[in-house]
Amino acid sequence: MDCLFCKIVAGEIPSTKVYEDDYTYAFRDINLQAPVHVLVVPRQHVANVLEGAQVDGLMQHMADTVAQVVRLEGLEKNGFRVIMNTGEDAMQTVKHLHMHVLGGRKLGIEMG
Ligand code: AMP
Ligand code: ZN
Repeated sequence: MDCLFCKIVAGEIPSTKVYEDDYTYAFRDINLQAPVHVLVVPRQHVANVLEGAQVDGLMQHMADTVAQVVRLEGLEKNGFRVIMNTGEDAMQTVKHLHMHVLGGRKLGIEMG
């Protein structure tokens, strides 16, 4: 399958690792929208949160990894934002489930 994030998970395309475990991989977004901008992806290919919700434990692993990233990046105190773009209206560009973890500055109130 020609999937960018599958290739990143496989190490075929370089990335800056923040955290990894058996189920998930976290790396820095190539186009930072905030001082901390990390993408959390499942190793298993699922297209989006709706597909991810069908796989036992997958979303729990994603949430656990978000918590690890937040701890590693020191975001607990000031807070952070988690975004999952899904489909056309949200302008999802990579069709492999990912959570954006954004922080390190005061983020705007706009959601879109
Ligand atoms: P989305 O628009 O929610 O699908 O987000 C896809 C994200 O992937 C964007 O924020 C891109 O900047 C990011 N991205 C695209 N290619 C790479 C790459 N090679 N390494 C890291 N992040 C990437
Ligand atoms: Zn994939």
